[in-house]
Amino acid sequence: PPSVPDTATSTADSPKDEFLYDHTYRANATLLILARNSDLEGTIRSMREIEDRFNRKYNYPWVLLNEVPFTSEFIKRVSVLTASHIEFGIIPHDHWYQPAWIDEEKAKASRGKMMADNVIYGGSVSYRNMCRFNSGFFYKQELLQKYRYYWRVEPNVHFHCEIDFDPFLFMEREKKVYGFTITLYEFEATIKTLWKAVKDFIAEHPQYVAPENALGFLTEDGGNSYNLCHFWSNFEIADMDFWRGEAYTAFFNYLDSLGGFYYERWGDAPVHSIAAALFAPKDKLHFFNEIGYEHAPYTHCPRGEDTWTKGRCGCDPKQSFDYDGYSCMKKWDRLAKSY
Ligand code: GDP
Ligand code: MN
Repeated sequence: PPSVPDTATSTADSPKDEFLYDHTYRANATLLILARNSDLEGTIRSMREIEDRFNRKYNYPWVLLNEVPFTSEFIKRVSVLTASHIEFGIIPHDHWYQPAWIDEEKAKASRGKMMADNVIYGGSVSYRNMCRFNSGFFYKQELLQKYRYYWRVEPNVHFHCEIDFDPFLFMEREKKVYGFTITLYEFEATIKTLWKAVKDFIAEHPQYVAPENALGFLTEDGGNSYNLCHFWSNFEIADMDFWRGEAYTAFFNYLDSLGGFYYERWGDAPVHSIAAALFAPKDKLHFFNEIGYEHAPYTHCPRGEDTWTKGRCGCDPKQSFDYDGYSCMKKWDRLAKSY
């Protein structure tokens, strides 16, 4: 693997002090999982790992969401895994299913074409429902109204290192908006007209674009075209006030009105990433180097021998995705070095 200096800005650990090790004061935050009943075993594995590595010390509450009721078996099996408060929510019908105003003939043609082109999840309606929900509806759920920050967790992910500080308190103190561990290129076929939509939206609403934004992470030509870089949203630690705010609300509503979640296969990852990069100042985005994280097929293993040792990490730093050719970390480094 290519060698990368440990001193690169983006690989620096999150600044820490005593406050961030405090196990008694909690931020207004929750751990969040969207899952199907069939995801039970994977949900258990993810919860076990994050409880072991972080939450048994910090005791943040859990929220689990599903568009159908969780079975009593599911609720029973996951409830024993944590000492924290845990709640189970059912997603309102209109927050999940394909809206009636979507032209189903057109949507179906797109699914057929993508399937023929072997686009991953190209033929799936439920995957599109999930992407639209994660883009514009999860933070509207009743159970989440009392919270500001969330940590998105998926079934079957891994947390490879001890997390001995509170990322939520870090977000709160630094007024960060969006935290990530892995960044990569999107499949172009899934978002053919997304960047045009973004440019049209910005032309209408230039006031939402933050000064000192992270446009430089998204483009190689001053914004004319999208370089497909995005934060991998299966891991997110973020501020729901940002999604609930005026800029993102207008942005999501505009994207939704174009039907691209169904006529194409827009993912919540590029939608969140583009919004965070454009509507927040770049220093409000944060790379959590010290959080060792795996979602198949990629792993982020902390850079820096000290961080890896202190974290008692179970991952191999040489296998870290950060400097793989398909990773966008080099674009992040380029941006991070500029502030
Ligand atoms: P991938 O990571 O893009 O391959 O997609 P996943 O299959 O992991 O789905 C992303 C997240 O959405 C995971 O937390 C899944 O459990 C969840 N998910 C996907 N489809 C559905 C669905 O139809 N219903 C529910 N309730 N959750 C879903
Ligand atoms: Mn996944």
